[in-house]
Amino acid sequence: MFRRCLNIINSNRTCGSIAQARLLLEKELDTIRAAGTWKGERVITSKQGPHINVDGSRDDILNFCANNYLGLSSHPEVIQAGIEALQKYGAGLSSVRFICGTQDLHKNLEKKLSQFHEREDCILYASCFDANAGLFEVLLGPDDAVLSDELNHASIIDGIRLCRAKRFRYKHMDLNDLEEKLRESQSSRLRLVVTDGVFSMDGDVAPLVGICDLAEQYGALVFIDECHATGFLGPRGRGTDELLGVMDKVHIVNSTLGKALGGAAGGYTVGPKPLIDLLRQRSRPYLFSNSLPPSVAGSATRALELLLASNEIAQSMAAKTMRFRNGMSQAGFTIAGTAHPICPVMLGDARLASIMADDMLKLGVYVIGFSYPVVPKGEARIRVQISAAHTDSDIDHTVDAFIQTGRKHGVIS
Ligand code: PLP
Repeated sequence: MFRRCLNIINSNRTCGSIAQARLLLEKELDTIRAAGTWKGERVITSKQGPHINVDGSRDDILNFCANNYLGLSSHPEVIQAGIEALQKYGAGLSSVRFICGTQDLHKNLEKKLSQFHEREDCILYASCFDANAGLFEVLLGPDDAVLSDELNHASIIDGIRLCRAKRFRYKHMDLNDLEEKLRESQSSRLRLVVTDGVFSMDGDVAPLVGICDLAEQYGALVFIDECHATGFLGPRGRGTDELLGVMDKVHIVNSTLGKALGGAAGGYTVGPKPLIDLLRQRSRPYLFSNSLPPSVAGSATRALELLLASNEIAQSMAAKTMRFRNGMSQAGFTIAGTAHPICPVMLGDARLASIMADDMLKLGVYVIGFSYPVVPKGEARIRVQISAAHTDSDIDHTVDAFIQTGRKHGVIS
């Protein structure tokens, strides 16, 4: 009897705390709605690609907001390679890499990625978020320093939070400020300059030549996150370091398989062999998380083989990017960044960005408005992303839809 009463009291207490947690959570959700920063999710009912079906909208919507830069997410050969890997290697490994989760498929992909980036070795992760979460803690200790661009991706910021190095945040792409921080951190054992190769909200490219010169002058290492560059920037699509001619001066690269390289999932680090060896021993997201599924590794391998065989796809994307940027600029829009397939159409006002994106969908074009806190206040925009899979007529149609919507809202005359 006593035990039953105790159970009832305990279960009332649990109900009480759950009710209290619900109230707190609802209050927080209301705050997000009231601030106008609620992120809704539209539901796609087809494959990822330049033309998609979106639940609740008319058929065949033009998609201009995926990171599917090379159109490989639904490339027939990439899909076929995934199917073959699924059939040969199974659905998954039910294991982390070091227990019984390493297949020849993973080793082969790591070898190809090292070859692609021209670095000594490579380690795969389940995502680039994990690669960024796992790197800094292993490489840097309390005697070291990390110098990070203030606008680096959230996963870099989180990864740096996990390490015990002294932290220096330099102003966005500001070489003078970086130099000041390099001077301040002179007494540290290792110093690592950390930057996105391309910043995803503006499509702006890090000043890697200046960064590498400073790093050389002050004896620092350089790390770049290439999620928005791998596969298509530079003459052979190797990334920002190739574009700017500093492949031999950037020491460590993290990137993703979840954007240009097939778009499924997965991330990796390439760099000096002893670093990769140490990451396999100590990097927590690698040691304590499941292996990349075979179908994902198979698709990414095929995507990489396509890129290693020819740079035609990367070049066609560059031409399409310029077609969109030129068309929009001639119509009177302001497009941030230069030459990158991330083309932010700058609008300023958050509501305007959101309403214009809704109007674009009514015209059959799927784009998304970004506003504070994702971008600074007063700098709301629609971020358009070009893919090699878009046709010239897809691009022209989208420019026309922007012109119609922009005129309606007084953004252009
Ligand atoms: N780094 C940058 C710059 C990114 O844009 C992203 C994804 O949005 C990531 C890291 C995380 O990549 P993943 O999706 O592979 O975790």
